[in-house]
Amino acid sequence: MKNQSIKSKITILYTGCIAVVLLVVLIGMVFFIKNVETNTAKEELQGKVDAFYGKINIQGDTYSIPEGIEFYNDGVIISVYDQNGTPVTGSIPSQFPIQTELKDDFYQYVQKADHRWLVYDKAYDYGNGKILWLRAISTVYGFERVAGQVMILVGFVFVLMTVFIASVGYRMLSVALRPVDIICQEAGEISKGEDLSKRLTIPQVRDEMYRLTIEFNQMFDRLEKSFEAEKQFSSDVSHELRTPLAVIHSQCEYLLEECQMKEQENDIQIIMDQTEKMIGLITQLLTISRCERGGEYFQMEQFDFSFMAEMVADTMEEIAYQKQIQLNRNIEVNLMVYGEETLLMRMLMNLVENAIYYGREGGHVEIKIQKKGQMVEGRIIDNGIGISKENLDKIWKRFYREDKSRSSTTNGTGLGLSMVRWIVQLHRGKIEVFSQKGIGSEFVFYLPIS
Ligand code: ADP
Repeated sequence: MKNQSIKSKITILYTGCIAVVLLVVLIGMVFFIKNVETNTAKEELQGKVDAFYGKINIQGDTYSIPEGIEFYNDGVIISVYDQNGTPVTGSIPSQFPIQTELKDDFYQYVQKADHRWLVYDKAYDYGNGKILWLRAISTVYGFERVAGQVMILVGFVFVLMTVFIASVGYRMLSVALRPVDIICQEAGEISKGEDLSKRLTIPQVRDEMYRLTIEFNQMFDRLEKSFEAEKQFSSDVSHELRTPLAVIHSQCEYLLEECQMKEQENDIQIIMDQTEKMIGLITQLLTISRCERGGEYFQMEQFDFSFMAEMVADTMEEIAYQKQIQLNRNIEVNLMVYGEETLLMRMLMNLVENAIYYGREGGHVEIKIQKKGQMVEGRIIDNGIGISKENLDKIWKRFYREDKSRSSTTNGTGLGLSMVRWIVQLHRGKIEVFSQKGIGSEFVFYLPIS
C-alpha cells in the first residue's frame, strides 16, 4: 500500500468504506425481509390455532370436535393433543417428527431431511384445569426456503457493485488527477533535459493545479537564476585567475633558468608544478562552463574521429609505457563525427588518461572505436583498480574522487569526468560506465555520426 499511487490508495480506501457500508445495508435488508416474513407466518399460525379452538364444542369440562372440521386450512395443518401430549385427532405432515415437544405459546422451526416447518403450539384450559393442546404446522416455503439463493444473490450484487464503484471511482480520480500527471511529466522533461528555461503549461482553470503550476514555475525561475549565477561565477573566477597564474608560471620558468642553487630550484619546481595543476583545473572549469552554455560557443564541423583517436593513442603511449601498461587499440578507420574536435579530443584523452592512471602496473588498456548504427561507439577498457558500485554514480560529479589519497599522487582534479560528460552531452551523445572494484572499468560513449 505504501508504494501505491495516490489514485490507487484513494480508490482502495473509499471502495473499502463503501463496500463495508454496502455489506451492512444488504445484510440488514436480508434480515429485515426475513423478520417481516417470519412474523407474518407466526401471526397466521396463531390466528389459525385460535380460530380452530373457537370451532371446538366445550361443555363443562368436556369438549368435542365437530364432525367434518377442516384440519388443513390454507397451508396450515392442525393437530390436537390431550393433556399428556398424546395425539387425539388432526393431521400432521408425513415426515414430521411426532415426538417434537409441545411448548405453550411457542414458535419453533423443525427440520427433517429436506423438509422444514414452522410450528406453533398452544395449550388451552377448557375447564377445571383440563388442558387441550393445539399444534399448527406450516411448511416453510417463503424466504426461509430460498435464503441460500438470496444470500448468493446478495453476494453477487455486492461483488458487482464493489467492482463497479472501484472502477468508476478510479476513472474519475484519473481524470481529476490528470493535471498532476501532466505537471510530473513536464517537470520530469525539464529536469531530464536540463533546460531550466522551459516552464510548465499553465492550466486554464484557476484551481489548485493552477496555483501549483504557478508555484512550480516560480521555483524554476529562481533555480534558473541561481544556476546562471553559479555558472557565471565559476566562469568569471576562472577567467580572473588565469592571467595571474600564467604570470606566476612564466616567472617560475624565468627563475628556474636563472637559479644557481639546487635547493631553491626544487622549491621553484614545486611552485611551478602546482601552478600547472591550477592552470589545468581552471582550463577544465572554463571548458565545463562553456559546455553548459551550449553549442553556439563551439565550432562544430565534420571531422575524422578515427584519425583523432589514433593521435590520442600515440600521445598516451609514453605515459602507458612509463606505467608498464600495454595500450591496445582497435580503431575502425574513417569514422566521421560532427563536433568540435579539440573538445572531443580532450574527452578521449581524459578517459584514456584515467584508464592508465587508475590502471594496474603491468596491466592493459584498450581503446576500441567502432561504428554502431548511426553512432560511433567508443570503449575504453582497463583492468585497473575499478570503482565500487555505490560510487559509480558519483564519479561524474565535479571534484569527486573516489580515493582521495591515491588521487593526490596523480595529477587529478576531480573535474575530468564531469567535463567528459558535458562534452558528450553537448554532442548529443551518451556515456556510461561499467566497473567492478579490483577488477577494472569500462567507459562506453556514443556520438552521433552527423
Ligand atoms: P580525477 O582528476 O580524480 O581523475 P575524474 O573526474 O577524471 O577525476 O575522475 C573521478 C574519479 O573517478 C577518480 O578520482 C577515480 O576515483 C574514478 N575513476 C575515473 N576513471 C577511473 C578508472 N578508469 N578506473 C578507476 N577509477 C576511475
